[in-house]
Amino acid sequence: MANHRGAGAPPPKRGGGGGNTKALYHLGETVTGSDGKPTIKMIKALKLRPGVKNHEILTLDDFTDLDDAYSINIHMFNLRGTKDNIVVCPKTAMDPRPCPICEVLNKEPSWYVCVSAIDRHVYEFADKKSAGQKKVYQDLRRVVLITNTWKQRMTINAEHAKGWRGSYWHVSRSEPTQEPTQNGGTRTSYKDSPRVGDVWFMEEKYDEEKIKNELEKGAATYGLPVEKFAQPLNYEVLLKPKDHAQLVAIANDIRSDESALKDPEPAAAAAPAAAVSDKLAEAELNY
Ligand SMILES: [Zn+2]
Repeated sequence: MANHRGAGAPPPKRGGGGGNTKALYHLGETVTGSDGKPTIKMIKALKLRPGVKNHEILTLDDFTDLDDAYSINIHMFNLRGTKDNIVVCPKTAMDPRPCPICEVLNKEPSWYVCVSAIDRHVYEFADKKSAGQKKVYQDLRRVVLITNTWKQRMTINAEHAKGWRGSYWHVSRSEPTQEPTQNGGTRTSYKDSPRVGDVWFMEEKYDEEKIKNELEKGAATYGLPVEKFAQPLNYEVLLKPKDHAQLVAIANDIRSDESALKDPEPAAAAAPAAAVSDKLAEAELNY
C-alpha cells in the first residue's frame, strides 16, 4: 500500500466477484486446421479489470481515425451466472425491425466502434489436469469495443501512434469512482473506467517484419498462417447478426432465467443519432 501524504491512503476497494465462467453467447470465428477440420474459436472483447496496469496489446487495423472503423450495435448481458454474453443486435438504420433481444432485455443495444488486437499479455492458469503445472496463454485475438464517449480520445492516441497497425501498447484501467446519489447514497461510476482501459501508451511500433516474427508462435498455436493471424478481424463475418429464429431462441433462453441481470457495469450508450452504423448496414447488404 502506498504511503500517501495529505489525505492518506485511498478508500478500500469494493468487493468484486471473481469467476471465469465462460459466456454462453459469444463471438466466434471459424478456423480451418491443417487437417481440414473447421473449429470455432471464441473472440473475446477486450475487458480489463479495474486497476490493471500496463496490459500489453498489439493493434492491427490499417486506419487511424475511428470514424473509419467498423461500428456495431451489441447486447451484453449476464445469464445464469455467466458474464459478458454478447449478441449482435440486428437493428440498423436500414433495417429497424424489432429485435427479440432488445425486447426481452427491454434495452437498446450499445454502440461501439471496433479495433482488432492481439492480447500479448501472458496469462498463467493452474492446469486442472496435472497438479503443479501451469497453462500459459499469450497472443489471444481480441476485439476492442470503443464507446462513442472514448472514440475521440482513442483516435488521438492512434494519431500519436501513427495509426493502429503495429502499435504495441501498455494499457491501464482506472478504478471506478463513487458518486453521490440524490438520496444521499453513493453509486459506482464507470465514466472514467471503460472496460478497454482509459490510458493507452504506445510503447513500440512494430514494422511488418516484427509483427510477423512476434506473432509466429501465437499464430501456430491458434491454427492460422501468421499472415492471416496478423490481419484485422473479419468484422463482417465475426459481427454478422444471427438470424431471426436464432435470436428468438436466445431471447427465450434469457426469459427463462429470472436472474438474467443487466451488466453491473453500465455499457455504452445506444447509438448516437448521427453515427448509426452505416458500415454495418453496408456489410449486411453484402452478405
Ligand atoms: Zn437488439
